[in-house]
Amino acid sequence: MSTASGRVNCTGCDFQGTLQYRPLRLVYRLHDGSEVESARIFGWCVPCNGIRDIEASMDGEKIRVELEELQKQARSPALLISKVFGSLLGGRANELKEEITGLENQLRFLKSRRSKPRCLMCGGEDTKSLSFDERGLSLEFVHECGGHLKLEPTDPDAIRFSYRPETIFLDHEGRKITP
Ligand SMILES: [Zn+2]
Ligand SMILES: [Zn+2]
Repeated sequence: MSTASGRVNCTGCDFQGTLQYRPLRLVYRLHDGSEVESARIFGWCVPCNGIRDIEASMDGEKIRVELEELQKQARSPALLISKVFGSLLGGRANELKEEITGLENQLRFLKSRRSKPRCLMCGGEDTKSLSFDERGLSLEFVHECGGHLKLEPTDPDAIRFSYRPETIFLDHEGRKITP
């Protein structure tokens, strides 16, 4: 997989940074050994003083709504009957069970999580998420010079790098662990 990187400049000073779109997966290992998958986002890390990969935060409310919906499906009479008779729907019943367990693990993870999203480079909690609007401007974030960061349009001729998808294992507080 080859990915271009995004060039970021500051509107107020000569700061330059990059967004490395390398494929990155985060896996949290909970106390009981179960795992929760998550994603990285780009953010500003204050201790690193630059753009870094940081932990994406999960939306507990969204997870709860999805969980309720799946639990409703799991209780549907058709599915219960299929479990008994082992029909084609039996596969769907197992899938549902797995999805429900996954969401329950996410909620347990959120309940035990205390620290804020960490920088995946230095582990610091003093981070801010970065989002860029349609003009490429990051207006919520103010750089130390008072300017805003701007994502330059991707140059189609830019050198592209190939990255192997990487997985980072973390404990429930977002600290790196060796798998
Ligand atoms: Zn600046
Ligand atoms: Zn950092």
